[in-house]
Amino acid sequence: MKKNKEIEQYINHLEKQPKGFLYEEKKDNLSQIKMLYQPYRNCTKCPLGQLGRTQVVFGEGNPNSNLMFIGEGPGRNEDKQGHPFVGRAGQVFDKIIEAMNIKRDEIWISNVVKCRPPNNRVPLPQESSKCTELMLFREIEIIKPKIICTLGATATQALLGPNAKLSQVRGQIQKYKKTLVVPTYHPAYLLRNPAQKKKVWQDMQQILKILKI
Ligand code: SF4
Repeated sequence: MKKNKEIEQYINHLEKQPKGFLYEEKKDNLSQIKMLYQPYRNCTKCPLGQLGRTQVVFGEGNPNSNLMFIGEGPGRNEDKQGHPFVGRAGQVFDKIIEAMNIKRDEIWISNVVKCRPPNNRVPLPQESSKCTELMLFREIEIIKPKIICTLGATATQALLGPNAKLSQVRGQIQKYKKTLVVPTYHPAYLLRNPAQKKKVWQDMQQILKILKI
């Protein structure tokens, strides 16, 4: 993997941490997250608020985690149930973390946009930028994970910029502010392209190695 010096030094620092620091007590993270989400329960700050969503689907999991996964946006099942990653792609996601020996309540799972785009289309740039500015970037500031795994192109570009092509940045550890970013394929893509599971597993092993899990 290609890494620049700063990223390499940070990885070395993380690898020297004591074993098992998947999550730690970070004061008030839960209440801060609740306060962050509170004003947006019926959000209409971007067009997705008025294009047929059932409810706003917020991030969930352990707000003290050092590992955050970010997907694109809620699909049909997520929109119905109000939880991220609960449809078919969510089942693939569950298998991935199970293989990592990680439980959902040990990590934070969120999406770029919190409302389902009609017919599961890709969120438009103005929808992504509005929602990330309102919530995702602030979630990251509160939780301060050591590693963010971006699932798919939309999440990867939300953090690394619109020119970050998943096919080019996958396989190389990136950085968003003070957090390492491991870009990988979205579980929905794996449903269509199961041959890519091997690459996703390589990325997950990289995460396990750095976090010493
Ligand atoms: S996608 Fe985000 S910004 Fe847009 S309406 Fe939903 S919660 Fe608000």
